[in-house]
Amino acid sequence: MAGVIRRLDETVVNRIAAGEVIQRPANAVKELIENCLDAKSTNIQVTVKDGGLKLLQIQDNGTGIRREDMEIVCERFTTSKLQTFEDLSAIATYGFRGEALASVSHVAHVTITTKTADAKCAYRASYSDGKLKGPPKPCAGNQGTQILVEDLFYNVSTRRKALKSPADEYSRIVEVVSRYAIHNSGKSFSVKKQGETVADVRTLPNASAVDNIRGVFGNAVSRELIEVGCEDQKLAYKMKGYISNANYSVKKCILVLFINHRLVESSALKKAVETVYAAYLPKNTHPFLYLSLEIAPHNVDVNVHPTKHEVHFLHEDSVVESIQKHVESKLLGSNSSRTYFTQTLLPGLSVSGGSDVKSSSAAAEPSERIYAHQMVRTDCRAQKLDAFLQPREKPPPDPEAAGPSSREAQPGGVEMEEADDADMMEALAEQESEVPKGDEDDNSVQRKRPRKEPQQQAEEDEDLTAAATPKRRVVKLTSIKELRAEIAENAHKGLQEMLQNHSFVGCVNPQWTLVQHHTKLYLLNTTKLSQELFYQILIYDFGNFGVLRLSTPAPLYDLAMLALDSEESGWTEEDGPKEGLAQYIVDFLKNKTEMLGDYFSVEIDQEGNLTGLPLLLDKYTPVMEGLPMFILRLATEVNWDVEKECFRDFSKECSMFYSIRRRYVLEAEPGEEQDQEVNSWRWKVEHVIFKAFRTLFSPPKSFSEDGAVLQIANLPDLYKVFERC
Ligand code: ADP
Ligand code: MG
Repeated sequence: MAGVIRRLDETVVNRIAAGEVIQRPANAVKELIENCLDAKSTNIQVTVKDGGLKLLQIQDNGTGIRREDMEIVCERFTTSKLQTFEDLSAIATYGFRGEALASVSHVAHVTITTKTADAKCAYRASYSDGKLKGPPKPCAGNQGTQILVEDLFYNVSTRRKALKSPADEYSRIVEVVSRYAIHNSGKSFSVKKQGETVADVRTLPNASAVDNIRGVFGNAVSRELIEVGCEDQKLAYKMKGYISNANYSVKKCILVLFINHRLVESSALKKAVETVYAAYLPKNTHPFLYLSLEIAPHNVDVNVHPTKHEVHFLHEDSVVESIQKHVESKLLGSNSSRTYFTQTLLPGLSVSGGSDVKSSSAAAEPSERIYAHQMVRTDCRAQKLDAFLQPREKPPPDPEAAGPSSREAQPGGVEMEEADDADMMEALAEQESEVPKGDEDDNSVQRKRPRKEPQQQAEEDEDLTAAATPKRRVVKLTSIKELRAEIAENAHKGLQEMLQNHSFVGCVNPQWTLVQHHTKLYLLNTTKLSQELFYQILIYDFGNFGVLRLSTPAPLYDLAMLALDSEESGWTEEDGPKEGLAQYIVDFLKNKTEMLGDYFSVEIDQEGNLTGLPLLLDKYTPVMEGLPMFILRLATEVNWDVEKECFRDFSKECSMFYSIRRRYVLEAEPGEEQDQEVNSWRWKVEHVIFKAFRTLFSPPKSFSEDGAVLQIANLPDLYKVFERC
């Protein structure tokens, strides 16, 4: 029997239509933010409860809504932005259909509080099913509009059931807000959960797009951005934005795409740019891109459905191709020497260990004739004498010279403590020497270790290490296992072989070191390599570190203040008083004391003083000038909510602090005594860092392409040059 066809009740029709427009809280947020921007707002604050299902509040400082318009704003097809059909093709504002507010009001309780510049007071009104519930009431308020959306989908139970995870909805909201924030630098945005004092994303009015990318996606990517921009009159488009260079990669491609200032998706464009990067990035990794595309309005289908993010436009293929070309040219040009690098790039180092390596070591093969010009010292086992000499530790640099406020910040000297940890035994085993007593003072490095002769020590090394191994704490965390696997999978075998068997030539400066391998000379970026080394140690020895005990506890508060005082922190008045931030950092880190101590040997006492740091390599202490920024960044750059991210971020930050940095090393040691100090970092680079490269290091593949390792000469070639002279 055929069913009876009935006309649907109007409210049901509206509700269905609304559900089409607003499918989840993040859609509503997007529409509402666009309204704020249309209204020329410069400050937009989003507050969320239960992933937006309980409450969504968007506050702006825009033009406001006139009292006489309040009656109809929530009706369908009411808009202040469009009058005739022809206007559609020249539309410059986001909304034009007058559908968003109406839709929301059909599936939620909406309250609008708004004030225009000329109005004497603000007005508040509530709406249901597109209609005003009662006359707008005068109330106090600043210029701008606040839209309050409560109980979203209260009358659409199927939709409510489909949105099971408020956390998931919240992160989608944060994503929308942060992307609009990046695109609208110069305007400030914030998004937070109701009741929280700290926003999850917050941008400042004077921040640049790059600042905002840093705030949202972190420093790792913001450091590696290339500005892009191109236009084509014929295709009637303009593009600008920022893209990551070949040094950076992520698991999943991030394309923040705006077309005519609307957040959209274009799989065609995404695919095109990904193809470009595929040639430069390690396998299965992807780039970050923020692109803002402006296309002549008559070429874009502006009438996209609000939930249809995927857009299409006229001459799509040609525009995409033109952008693709531009991206490729920028990527190549980002490192002017890159083309040079790729040509001469480690010819002997193929990923598999390669045949080239074999042929270059041919000189060592007895059956082959060794020509005089090939006889160079290539055996890394040939020790140099200075390995047995001690670096002279000297009193600290004059506090005045080291910078205005560094006196309090210098957490005195660092003392190595004998932890009862198995790994300390390992560390101890490698201990070859002791600082002569005479040179000690508060700030020098003290080591409470028995003195051992290097010779004797070398013999004991293996035994002790082996004996100590079983006592090691076994780490069963999946996150750490995964991070370890990532390091192992990403290792460049050829480079590893080179680092294992290199002969150390000398330090050019703290950042660059020369080594020789077979008959080739390489320039290595010590900063990058040492940072990666410490990162790997942090991941591999996770939960098993010895402690570098500070002889004077360093108050976290002072460290945070120092960091905030430095230019590097980027602190501005909008961030609020430094004292408050510093206290927040102290409280924040104190909360993590147990975890930090247990896993990373970062020790914090009850008073909020830092008392210990992880001992990552024996005889190596990080340069303490980097400590304040390290502390600040722990509070700002580490994602503490997700285990794996947390361990990775922490290790990245910590490795940055421990790495050999030109700035710190040079700035910290001014004046006449430079020589001795320079000797000391030189000694560390050669006998600690590069020694570790031989055994503890899996250099990532990216090093063979990003300029971290450069072959600068091949000795036989040089001889040929000399012969001609
Ligand atoms: P549209 O944006 O397509 O015009 P909406 O339903 O999103 O439709 O909004 C309806 C109207 O309400 C807008 O045209 C605008 O006049 C007014 N409006 C909505 N939000 C704001 C706001 N935040 N500030 C000022 N006016 C607003
Ligand atoms: Mg709108």
